[in-house]
Amino acid sequence: MKYKSTRGDVNGLGFSDALLMGLASDNGLLIPEEIPDVSNALAEYRTLDFIGLAQALMPLFIDDIDRATLDRLVSESYATFAHDEVIGWRQLDNIAVMELFHGPTLAFKDIALQLLGKLFQHVLSERGERLNILGATSGDTGSAAIAGVRGQDNVDIFILFPEGRISPLQELQMTTVPDANVHCIGVQGSFDDCQRLMKTVFSDAAYKAKYSLGAVNSVNWARILAQIVYYAYASLRYPDGARFSVPTGNFGNVFAAYIAQHMGFPIRQLLVATNDNDILARFFATGTYARGDVHQTLSPAMDIQVASNFERFLYYHFDEDSARLRRFMEEFAQHGEASVGSPPAPSLLNAMAIGRHETLAAMDSVQAKYGYTLDPHTAVGYAAAQKGGLEDAVVVATAHPAKFPDAVSEATGEQPTHPTLEALVNQPTRKDDLAADLDAVKAYVALRATTQG
Ligand SMILES: *Cc1c(COP(=O)(O)O)cnc(C)c1O
Repeated sequence: MKYKSTRGDVNGLGFSDALLMGLASDNGLLIPEEIPDVSNALAEYRTLDFIGLAQALMPLFIDDIDRATLDRLVSESYATFAHDEVIGWRQLDNIAVMELFHGPTLAFKDIALQLLGKLFQHVLSERGERLNILGATSGDTGSAAIAGVRGQDNVDIFILFPEGRISPLQELQMTTVPDANVHCIGVQGSFDDCQRLMKTVFSDAAYKAKYSLGAVNSVNWARILAQIVYYAYASLRYPDGARFSVPTGNFGNVFAAYIAQHMGFPIRQLLVATNDNDILARFFATGTYARGDVHQTLSPAMDIQVASNFERFLYYHFDEDSARLRRFMEEFAQHGEASVGSPPAPSLLNAMAIGRHETLAAMDSVQAKYGYTLDPHTAVGYAAAQKGGLEDAVVVATAHPAKFPDAVSEATGEQPTHPTLEALVNQPTRKDDLAADLDAVKAYVALRATTQG
């Protein structure tokens, strides 16, 4: 399988090159040159467990790593999960909750980032190269990315986070990691400052090349690829077609479901569930993609206005017309708003925004009725499935409730805990503080980055 950019100026990349490139060099997003059709293999896939299905699907997209190595990387990635089947499943009357939070940092991002870490390690050691990963986090991405690469000798990871603005537990999940290749940076500023600093560092091509900078945010194709597996796996339980409700921020998670549907897995409906940051819900209602103000909500991993993965969906929506996509993205960058004309037909994708009150009510009623605790992100998905009347919905559970104890206790009066998090509390921590200043960040990375030779 070869990879190309949504913007049309990058083509014919092998998987490993796509993995290391992250964002395409023409500023587009990398996608496979074609989407494999698995319609004839569904009966066979139905006999596989989660890891077996992952091992069956990866070679459709990765042909520059041999099969035995790939099988090993997949099984090693999921050996770190606390659940026998990797993902958990809980039926609450006609709604199923697909638990994706049994990995080392208790959020769904582990499913992709554990594999991404193994893939990096393998490809870099084959090539005798090193990588310095630079990322910005508002909470979950940083710890999951760190957990994916900690202790590896061909990667250093630098994570920028807004000092004092992520939850204390999320900060501990990063700063208690003792490995020397992990560098946590508390920035005196907002998450937007962190993200802007990261993007500006990446836009300096000479600096990026000199320090072999790489990215782990959800623009990396390998993250989407890993996420396809659980949609495929779950959909096979629903021969007439599964309906998923997906708590959405950057559109990365739900985009994986969209690809799984295109591959031929039985998926009937995808509900894009957003919090008050409802740019996507407005788009699916009106056809206009218009930036709004960022609202702070109970589900901070979804407090995003501009969804970085949405470009991949638009590319297919525009029938793979890169020129049209480019015009749309330029218009949006200039005016903060762009339109596709009439809204997309709601046959597969719909969207729904869920407010603070509805989120709390969903957590409260599920706790009361089933004795089951939803985290505030999953609660958005649950509330959307109910409000949208989605029959037999599969709600994608993206985090363990103990990661967000304040929101849960506000809703239910109970304080959820998890042994992994409790164990962090008295651990020694390590971090450095920096001003929200480009030169300071560049100097910090330059001093600590390990370069080739
Ligand atoms: C990252 C995250 C999301 C949003 O996922 P996207 O791929 O950005 O749509 C939702 N819930 C939790 C808990 C997350 O960490």
